[in-house]
Amino acid sequence: MTEAIDLFHRTFPEAIGAQAFSAPGRVNLIGEHTDYNNGLVLPFAIDARTHVVVARNELRTVRVVSAQRPDEIRTIAVDRIDPETAGSDWSAYVFGVLWAFADSGREVGGIDLAISSTVPVGAGLSSSAALECAVGLAVSTVFGHDLSLDQIARLAQRAENDYVGMPCGLMDQMASATCEQGNVLFFDVGADTCENIPFDPESDGLSVLVIDTRAHHSLADGEYAKRRASCEQAAATLGIESLRDITFDGLDAALARLDDALLRRRVRHIVTENRRVERVVEQLRHAGAIAIGPDLTASHVSLRDDFEVSCLELDVAVDAALTAGALGARMTGGGFGGSVVALVPHSAKDRVSSQVLAAFAARSLTAPVIRTVTPAQGARRD
Ligand code: ADP
Ligand code: MG
Repeated sequence: MTEAIDLFHRTFPEAIGAQAFSAPGRVNLIGEHTDYNNGLVLPFAIDARTHVVVARNELRTVRVVSAQRPDEIRTIAVDRIDPETAGSDWSAYVFGVLWAFADSGREVGGIDLAISSTVPVGAGLSSSAALECAVGLAVSTVFGHDLSLDQIARLAQRAENDYVGMPCGLMDQMASATCEQGNVLFFDVGADTCENIPFDPESDGLSVLVIDTRAHHSLADGEYAKRRASCEQAAATLGIESLRDITFDGLDAALARLDDALLRRRVRHIVTENRRVERVVEQLRHAGAIAIGPDLTASHVSLRDDFEVSCLELDVAVDAALTAGALGARMTGGGFGGSVVALVPHSAKDRVSSQVLAAFAARSLTAPVIRTVTPAQGARRD
């Protein structure tokens, strides 16, 4: 936060009345690729945050600077913010939020922003949603819109879908905006309901490790769009609105109606993944985190074999963590790189870390970064 404040005053020394906001990255505990199928997800916010310091200006211009992109001040006239000319620069995540406000009839004006983040970029921990949600809360506040965090999440998703051009579901933004400390967010996308479920692995003698493989394979975005298209195609073939409409008990009957083996695998992942989310929620309610390991690992196997979004680095991290004593481990986020989440007894933490590092070294893979995460607060004014 101090970094964002310093950056703001260095870059915009004439500004007055600056305010600070922040929003966290997130880990998805389970429920992967289900959000855009109207399904179930179970993310939690992590204690890495994107901070933004802002003040209105009288120039009808947006000016933004980021500590993660030194020496790049990005400027655009408010009336020229247009998805047609958005481009792929990082500033699109910021300008897109202002566009989403304006496009939904919410007046915005000139604003200066300075950003600084501890969420690793491109690690599957959703630095993009953290940035959008921090900016969304800031814009909502300084222009007097007073939106709920839920509304901010939806505008942030709109920015990423229609301005940045990434067809993501609503999970990341909902998690970053609305998660509560000490809880996972049980978000039923189809029913549009959110429930906070207490999640306190430490009290069960467990830690959640996030293993950032530092791999980011270039096919990630294109493959994400392809998975989405396959799911839509399968739903259309089955004459249903979304794969959410297939119950676990109805899975075999649905599969029997699909000729294409690839579509059958995609459908099987989504339907079994929704079931695993339900089971993990039941276990957290009745038995605690100690019970959820097998479903986490089953999720990884399904993502690897049926949904085919894993990669060597993710598989190596999962296998090494399990061999070293993790109760469960899975890739988290869209896949093709990014991070693994592992549930680990305190007594095995050091062993898991060292064996994961050794497994990467043995294959000459870039050393992963391993962090312990705890469920943190969503977007807030600081
Ligand atoms: P992630 O899994 O981290 O969300 P994405 O590819 O979805 O990965 O989003 C990462 C992009 O978001 C970066 O390439 C950059 O354009 C933008 N971004 C995120 N955080 C920052 C930041 N602190 N400063 C500038 N740009 C950022
Ligand atoms: Mg992202």
